[in-house]
This record gives sequence, C-alpha cells and structure tokens, in this order.
Amino acid sequence: MAEIKGIVTADTLNVRADYKTDAPKAGEVKKGQELRITGFAVDPKGDDFKLRYRIVLNGKTLWTTAKFVSVDPALVKQIPFIAQNPANAAEELLEASGMDVKDGTQIAFEEAQAVAALMRDFKVSGTFDDQGIRLLRGVIEHLHACGVTLGSDDSGSWSMGDLQKVQQAVDGMAGGMGKLFEQLYGARDDAKAFRTMYAPLHITRSGKNNVSPWPEKETWFAKNSNGYEIVLGNRVFFEGTTVTRSNPHMPYSSVELIAHEIGHVINWRYSLKMPKGQVVRPREFYESHLMAKKYVLPTGESVSLSMNDGYLLAARSSNGPHETVTDAITAFSLDRLTENDANPAKQKQGQARRLQIADMLGRIIQFRVESYTNVEGIRAAILKMGGAALETTMQTGLELLKRADSDLDKEMDRLKKTPIKAG
Ligand SMILES: [Zn+2]
Repeated sequence: MAEIKGIVTADTLNVRADYKTDAPKAGEVKKGQELRITGFAVDPKGDDFKLRYRIVLNGKTLWTTAKFVSVDPALVKQIPFIAQNPANAAEELLEASGMDVKDGTQIAFEEAQAVAALMRDFKVSGTFDDQGIRLLRGVIEHLHACGVTLGSDDSGSWSMGDLQKVQQAVDGMAGGMGKLFEQLYGARDDAKAFRTMYAPLHITRSGKNNVSPWPEKETWFAKNSNGYEIVLGNRVFFEGTTVTRSNPHMPYSSVELIAHEIGHVINWRYSLKMPKGQVVRPREFYESHLMAKKYVLPTGESVSLSMNDGYLLAARSSNGPHETVTDAITAFSLDRLTENDANPAKQKQGQARRLQIADMLGRIIQFRVESYTNVEGIRAAILKMGGAALETTMQTGLELLKRADSDLDKEMDRLKKTPIKAG
C-alpha cells in the first residue's frame, strides 16, 4: 500500500486512543500538520464524526475524525477498512460508505465490500435493507454494463427512485440505438449499442435546484455541456409530466428529460457524412435537411413537416438546433413519435420522422465506427474538452470500456469489418 498522507484542516484537532468519538483524548494536532493514515473505521454513535482515521503519530497508533483531514481523493480509495466489531463488519463498512443500513440487515462482508467499491464516487439517500442493497447493486452494475458511472455533487445524493429513473432513461436510449445497430449490423444488443455511442458517460446528482453555470441569469434543471458529463438537479426528479414555456403542448416526464440529456451526447460528440461526403454536425444536418421539410415516404406520398410535427415530446430548453436535434433523437429512441396516432395525417408525420431520424442516426453511427481509433482516442478527446478535471471524472467510465469481457476496441474492430446492410 502506498503511504497515505492527510493534512489537518481544523485549527486544533483531537486525537484519541481508539476509534470511538468518546475515547480518551491522547493529544492534539494543528492545522496544516501532516498525518500518516493507516486505516479507517466507523463509530456508529459518532454522528457527523463517525468516519474515523487510524493514524501513526510519533510512533503511536491513534485515531481521529476523517472530517477535518484532507486526503488526495485518488488515495482515499486505498485506505483499508478496519472493522471494529467483526460480527457487524458488513454493516459498518456500508455505513462508512455513507449508506444508512437498516438495523438487523444481514449481508455478507464480501458483498458489502463489492457494494462499497461501487459506491465510491457518489452518495445514496434512504434506508437500505438486504433487498434494497441488492437492488442498488443491480442498478449500478447494469449502468456500468452500459458504460455509465455515477457521481454526487453539492450535497446531492441518489435515492433508489432517482436511480431507477436513470436506468429507465438509459434503457430507453439504448433501445433506440440497439434497433439501429440491428438494422445496420444484423445483431441486437442494446447495452453494447449504448456503450458504442454514449459511453463513457458520467451522471452526477446535484443537490441544487439550478445547475446553470450562470445561476443569476438562467435556471437549468439539468445539463450536458460537454457530451461526457450530465448533471441532474433536484427538479429533474418529479412525478407525472410537465412542459416548457417554449413548447407548452408537448409534455415530458422525468425519465424523458434524463433521456434528453443523454441524447445531447450525440450532437456534442459526433459528426456525420452527407451523401456527397461533406462532414457536418448533427444539428447542422437536422436544421438543413429535417427540421421543417417535406419528406417522401416509400409509398411515394409527400409529407410536410413543421418543427414539432411527428413528435410527442419536447424536453428542450429552447428551440435552437442543438436542442431540437436532441429531442428528435430522444423521441425516436423512446418511441415517442406520432406514428400510432388515430389521425392518418399525424401517423404519416410520425412515420416520416422515424425514417428521417433513422437515416440521420445511421449516418452518425457509420461515421463514428469508421473514424474510431481506440479508448485512448476517447481519453484524448475528453482531455481536449475538459482537461485533467474531466479526465478524472471519466476515469472509471474509461476503465469500464476496457473490461476483458466487453472491450470497446475489439467491438469496434468487429463492427468495422461487418458489412453494412443496405436499405
Ligand atoms: Zn437540452
């Protein structure tokens, strides 16, 4: 184990003979002093100070609160856990990871370790019993299989309900991509299709209502400003449906709003080739070819389309082209087009949209596969976009793309060699 150092951040900090917050005081340390940390434990009765560090000071093993000791975040993960009550070690570990575990919960220590490792970068809210812990693990692992990692920011924590909404949004968008991959390459695997186009993707739960970078000027419930990281504030999570001021007749749900933020990935990260080979951004292609154009169905019928024709949802914050193309991708993926409407004119508009968007996304997928280099190429794009800070955020996601059982580089090689199905 690497030597792990912490710096005292309180003016004066008590150190104690054992891990308990009420253990006899054994001295004090001052602000700025460096401590050698050899382990952590949890004192269930310690309230705000329940997370404890074991330190070595002047050759003696002592304990102090973790609250006023700052440690390099990359090294925090390496501090070993020291169970104080071996009969209760699993619960202690999960509590130390920030989870409120229901009294009497029986869970194997190995399982608690696996869950604690998955929860390193985010917080959960609510009380968890055996079943809840397994459910949580299932959702996180499912998201990982899609190349999605989770974070917490500004005191934000994930409830089980929030996480299930994210899972539904990811699955919905994965379904849309999965169908297109099946049409193009002949095999359906939604999680794989999602990983190919949307991963790595980091979704942060913010405790704020407004996640705008200019909160005095604008209110944003959610954001995806760089194509890699989505931030969801409190107001993303609601029941039923709501509408925006710009499109008051097109309601959207919480899951659809999250799906819209995922949809932004496509426009922020990729381009496509026009029939004559010119490379353009999705928003440019959408605006010039799809937004409000006539479309000729395979039957020969011509369908006119205004901006909102063919769509059942509008989760966008404005009618700008990057927002409109994102809603188009989202509505297509979640099957929220008017192709099943009782009104034949709307039916045709919905069918026209499906064909238009499938053509656009097909071009995006092919250009993505064609121009893909490797996972290190994705890392380079991340560094270019958001520097070392964004790279750190995306680190776990990048690792997920190199897993032996689902290696993105190998998958892309395979796709490059697979002939595209015509028509
Ligand atoms: Zn948007």
